Amino acid sequence: RVVVGTKVDQNHVNWVTAYNMLTGIRFTVSRTNAKMDRELEDIDFDAKHKFSFDITGNELTPSTKYDFKFKDYAPFVFRHLRAKFKLDPADYLMSLTSKYILSELGSPGKSGSFFYFSRDYKYIIKTIHHAEHKFLRKILREYYAHIQQNPNTLLSQFYGLHRVKIPYGRKIHFVVMNNLFPPHRDIHRTFDLKGSTIGRDFREEDLEKNPRATLKDLNWLRRNLHLEFGPTKRRIFIEQMEKDVKLLQRLKIMDYSMLIGIHDLERGNEEKLRDKTLQVFQPGGDQAEDPQKANALARTPSKLENQRKAKELRQMIKHQKPVPMDQTSSKMPDEVDGEGKGFFFYNDDGGFRATHEDDRPGEEIYYLGIIDCLTHYGLIKRGEHFFKGLRNTESQISAIPPERYGDRFVRFVSGVTKTREAAEKEKAELNAT
Ligand code: ATP
Ligand code: CA
Ligand code: CA
Repeated sequence: RVVVGTKVDQNHVNWVTAYNMLTGIRFTVSRTNAKMDRELEDIDFDAKHKFSFDITGNELTPSTKYDFKFKDYAPFVFRHLRAKFKLDPADYLMSLTSKYILSELGSPGKSGSFFYFSRDYKYIIKTIHHAEHKFLRKILREYYAHIQQNPNTLLSQFYGLHRVKIPYGRKIHFVVMNNLFPPHRDIHRTFDLKGSTIGRDFREEDLEKNPRATLKDLNWLRRNLHLEFGPTKRRIFIEQMEKDVKLLQRLKIMDYSMLIGIHDLERGNEEKLRDKTLQVFQPGGDQAEDPQKANALARTPSKLENQRKAKELRQMIKHQKPVPMDQTSSKMPDEVDGEGKGFFFYNDDGGFRATHEDDRPGEEIYYLGIIDCLTHYGLIKRGEHFFKGLRNTESQISAIPPERYGDRFVRFVSGVTKTREAAEKEKAELNAT
């Protein structure tokens, strides 16, 4: 998979923000992980810690390039969540810190959120609205309990919740979560499915301009696509989705989607990762090759060097030493070691492989999960109220209550989960009658 995004380097407008985010994460995560592990207590869910960073540093915080404030929310809860999701603390720190930090995926949604990928492409930092932030804090106990009971959840895996603020700047809230898509495999098509048809169409004409665009429900139906899982995988997939959606319904969450990346094994990796050529994603624009990135890759330290650094970091965490700020992440996509091992839906080369009716492996790997699940119904209703006067737009808003939203979502996704054989058989039967 080719790394998508614009590199955030010193010349990037969001360099300072990104730098501060990573510095704050690095500091707070190593601080939390240096402490003795213990059972969670109720107050851990409401905990928040504020830190001031400045260029001189003080007894608590090290000196940094810029002055900024950083808030860390429920650090012990997220520590436990990361452990539950089987993240290695040292790897996590390595991935989220670097000189060439991250790449930015502009703002792909309508919400205005920004997305940053860690350099090794394992993690996504998503900036979120204050309302979403407050909401995540509110539901954290339920989310945590759900993860305990459902380690194979399809819901977004949250690894951290933080806030950063530069002097005179606004407060930026953000979460760190799993990137569903693999660093080492091309995704040939991406879909974002909600189970609604209103406004759920990506203009097919625009696909030429932007072949990696995320397509929607109507594009999926038009192509007559299926999540091709044979009986065993189908059952397990649908059961887990139902459990996850039940939680979302109970928490009155809406507007989430099933994000699906399809890797076609017959096409394989056409995009020349092996040529060390990376692409830059320009929102709404063409894909361009970036020679600068190719150079950066060529300078990437060896795997051995990475292993040495990870070991060093592990030692520091163990001996409760502060981790230096300039430790660079250098693990590259083609070296990523099966993250998420043991999780049912992320176990076939990081994804979930298609199967046939007889459970033989199929021709695709699906990389999928339920994303964007921090929108509370109340928020949408307020928005709807605002539109009340404008009759025409009303039908555009798919703001049906969370119960119905979830039922429709499950119905749609289950409905398209079947093998090609099963779909053809159904069709033949239908024609016969
Ligand atoms: P909106 O509210 O307008 O739908 P948003 O800003 O909340 O947008 P999301 O819906 O969370 O954004 O995500 C937008 C796109 O970003 C997705 O369609 C997908 O392409 C990508 N994306 C989001 N989360 C992930 C993830 N965990 N892994 C991979 N890609 C993701
Ligand atoms: Ca969305
Ligand atoms: Ca959203």
